[in-house]
Amino acid sequence: MIVDQKVFVAGHRGLVGSALVRRLGQDRVPLVTRVRAELDLEDPAAVTAFFERERPSEVYLAAARVGGILANATYPADFIRNNLLVTLNVLEAARHTGVTKLLYLGSSCIYPKHAPQPIPESALLTGPLEPTNQAYAIAKIAGIELCRSYNHQYGTNFVSVMPTNLYGPGDNFDLDTSHVIPALIRKFHEAHEATVPTVSVWGSGTPRREFLHVDDLADACVHVMRHHDGSDLVNIGCGEDLPIGELAQMVAEVVGYRGDIVFDATKPDGTPRKLLDVTRLAALGWQPRIPLRRGLEETVAWYRRTVRVGGG
Ligand code: GDP
Repeated sequence: MIVDQKVFVAGHRGLVGSALVRRLGQDRVPLVTRVRAELDLEDPAAVTAFFERERPSEVYLAAARVGGILANATYPADFIRNNLLVTLNVLEAARHTGVTKLLYLGSSCIYPKHAPQPIPESALLTGPLEPTNQAYAIAKIAGIELCRSYNHQYGTNFVSVMPTNLYGPGDNFDLDTSHVIPALIRKFHEAHEATVPTVSVWGSGTPRREFLHVDDLADACVHVMRHHDGSDLVNIGCGEDLPIGELAQMVAEVVGYRGDIVFDATKPDGTPRKLLDVTRLAALGWQPRIPLRRGLEETVAWYRRTVRVGGG
């Protein structure tokens, strides 16, 4: 442990932030966190005052407005505005108060829709984006450029990582705004409980996605924070993807659902494929530990416990 280390996890109630708190807690890193009612990250004066008072030495910027394909396509203004404001405020306060290192979380959707697969970090800004999440992606790209610019102009050490699609305990299971894995867990669980004969899966089932358990992501973030400096991006993924149709089959098996899967072509497919090239991350000495099926089993168990406690 570094003497006088104090780590601010921004967004500690979210999927990523809560996993970071669990992971840093294992190393007994001194943490500082604030819930939204205590600190509005969209408010520049409040963010500056918080940094001046708490003086964190390191920051993990995991606070973000995130959502699945439909939420992104429906509320693009919210996605671009919130993510830009939070990033602007946190980076400026971190620079102003002399934070020694900051980890900025981007997303694999920053890469062009037709990027080479697997996608190397060098594909950034080489082509048009996927329209369903363009607003979110542009906010995230602005964040990368902010980190790079601050490093260049002020000599900060703001590191940017690009996680692939994530899942795990603490995810958003709301069917209108969630990503695909929590949506499928909920749909198959509810259909299993009520013995419904079919479950609807959005799109054609052919788009391919890569999925990483959020505990692996948190471990990778801490590893990158400790072993990487400067403005070169680092992709964080597991290096494998599968079609959504196959994912749906796997979730059905894990849940124990025996009915049929139907594909709803009125819903968007989004980008055909986004598999990250994880060569750079592997060269830093990190590898994932949680295979998809085991991660799904754990997440289904967590969801069922949570639904029961919630009385749902
Ligand atoms: P994306 O990776 O940004 O496209 O985000 P999502 O996780 O929302 O969607 C991934 C893929 O899963 C897309 O092709 C969706 O159409 C598909 N999908 C299938 N069923 C669902 C569902 O019930 N909810 C969501 N969010 N996506 C679904």
